[in-house]
Amino acid sequence: MAFALLALLVLTACSSGEPSTIASTREPASPTMTPVPTPSPSPVLFRSVLVVPATASPTPVPIYHGGPYTVAIEAGHGGPGWFGASGYGPNGGRLIEKDLALDTALRLDELLRAAGFETVLVRDGDFTLTRFDGADYRSNMIAETQARVDLVNASRADVLVSIHFNGSAYSSLRGTETYYNPDRPFGAESYALASFMQAAVLSALAGLEHDVNDRGVRNDAEVGGDPNNAHSYLLGTNDGFRASLMPGVISEPLFLSNATDAARIAEEETRQRLAEAYRDGIVAYFVWLQS
Ligand SMILES: [Zn+2]
Repeated sequence: MAFALLALLVLTACSSGEPSTIASTREPASPTMTPVPTPSPSPVLFRSVLVVPATASPTPVPIYHGGPYTVAIEAGHGGPGWFGASGYGPNGGRLIEKDLALDTALRLDELLRAAGFETVLVRDGDFTLTRFDGADYRSNMIAETQARVDLVNASRADVLVSIHFNGSAYSSLRGTETYYNPDRPFGAESYALASFMQAAVLSALAGLEHDVNDRGVRNDAEVGGDPNNAHSYLLGTNDGFRASLMPGVISEPLFLSNATDAARIAEEETRQRLAEAYRDGIVAYFVWLQS
């Protein structure tokens, strides 16, 4: 009964849109209530981690400084309402982009810290930073992306690395691509980071004897031929949106919708090699900056 009551409290908290009330469910609601045993794990559906002041500085993060450098890692999608692409592994197991992106992001986080970087994980679990209730998918996506960009901007990270896996209605589409936005003050740096990371990923996949298909470093603003596409908010500039303030890329190393690529993604070793490739590309970028 205690657990049922807790579940009700959580549902109520989530439908109220007040993230702070989620934390209160960890405490007894009244002194007369029997203490509720901590469930494992607590069913947090979204987590608000930052309130950004309206006067947040739009000043881009300085490109050149002596370090240490901070890398913001964004695992694409997340939570109960934003799955991203999906596919099936060779044994028929379901592969979901939000989970695989998180797995790869956590691996990259560990590797970067071991290499002396500071890191900021936009999410370290299966959640979103805003309510993502699916009522208006595009609005949900833009609001969530804004929360993520605000968080990264507040951290003053030197670069933003977003990890995704691709999907398409055309199952024959496969291969590796990295997105950046050239129309920013740091467009050249974003291009360099994207190029280093794309090269490192291709090399890693070749090392796994994968049938590599280089789809190139691509302009994020041209996805779908629409410069206002929802995909472009993370790296681009859009009306009414507080843009990211540092060089950034979106990596789409393989397609979940393609059987050859999906079989590769399903292997843990692939995700480890991808994380190592991201690290190598990021290191190469900072070496290049200092050259
Ligand atoms: Zn994605």
